[in-house]
Amino acid sequence: MTFSELGVGAKVLQAITELGFERPMPVQEVVLPILLNEETDLIALAQTGTGKTAAFILPLLTNLLYDNHDPNKLNAIIMAPTRELAQQIDQQMEGFGFYVPFSSVAIYGGNDGGAWGTQSTGLQKGADIVIATPGRLLSLMNIYNIDFSGVKYFILDEADRMLDMGFYDDIMAVVNRLPKERQTIMFSATMPTNIRKMAKAIMNNPAEVQIAVSRPPESIRQMAVDIYEAQKTAFIVQKFRSSGDQELKKVIVFVGKKQKVKELARTLRANHIDARAMHSDLEQKERDEVMLDFRNGKVDVLVATDIVSRGIDVDDIPLVINYDVPRDAEDYVHRIGRTARAENKGGAITMVSPEDKRFFNKIERFLQKVIER
Ligand code: AMP
Repeated sequence: MTFSELGVGAKVLQAITELGFERPMPVQEVVLPILLNEETDLIALAQTGTGKTAAFILPLLTNLLYDNHDPNKLNAIIMAPTRELAQQIDQQMEGFGFYVPFSSVAIYGGNDGGAWGTQSTGLQKGADIVIATPGRLLSLMNIYNIDFSGVKYFILDEADRMLDMGFYDDIMAVVNRLPKERQTIMFSATMPTNIRKMAKAIMNNPAEVQIAVSRPPESIRQMAVDIYEAQKTAFIVQKFRSSGDQELKKVIVFVGKKQKVKELARTLRANHIDARAMHSDLEQKERDEVMLDFRNGKVDVLVATDIVSRGIDVDDIPLVINYDVPRDAEDYVHRIGRTARAENKGGAITMVSPEDKRFFNKIERFLQKVIER
């Protein structure tokens, strides 16, 4: 499908063409028809780099071209966790919005007093589109009398990161000022329970789409070691011994079988490595405790089955070790995707035994990449 076939407005198409975008990316193919043709709320699971920003900006601009909105009021609010992301969204907004008559204002902290003035004026005068970090929007909202009654579109980008950063209350304070009649759209890389909870609180029967993760980010340095099964544990112990204390904190070791998870965690502890096991035999309460300790840096190493490979939200993991090779390439991508989140760099080491070999070859084919030995 082309952007035009998907229904993007002519003035927006002109900008897309000039920006050199030839065809929609997968997330855009999935999200555009929903946002252009239906008024439903939407949760989209998609990572940075997939083209997700355009997936919400293009429909927003197109909808604003054709819908009934009050040009003197705020019409759309886009919230993003960091000022860097807000700036990126703002830049894309300027590009895609070059030929449309809408004004936008970016609102984030950490800049000079002049910017505060521009931001508050933009809010009070009713810029069509506001792109904001939660903290700054809330500060301005608490000082000035801002009219939110025209807001029809409310978009949360990287919602999981916003909650990780503790913005739940700020987001809710903004939501409470918005009209009930609105479209709420949430983009998130993961879907932990706190995101579900927030979705329930602020959305109305949302449609849900997931964009398959097929490639790990380039910021992960992927490595592999050829090794016999019997040497794997000693390799890990050695790895921890030989590194200084510095870097090897918050490491996850993935193991396919839970029996092996328990065994390995015990062996590591016997070797004075601060490791905890995480697997499905634990009660929910125990799991929460382990994850909390790990997140807070009270535990250095998490030895885990694939229950941790999807949807955990711990940001600064420097290293993922695969004790064995996952049978499924998607699992591999999910496992190593635990590192190098946000702007961090990370590493992933996969231990490949002769039995693991054919599964590892499959992963390399899937990634179209030979992984460094
Ligand atoms: P994002 O996931 O929104 O951070 O987008 C990643 C990058 O892909 C950005 O630099 C976009 O400008 C670019 N991009 C988005 N959509 C397309 C497209 N259809 N064709 C080419 N590049 C795109």
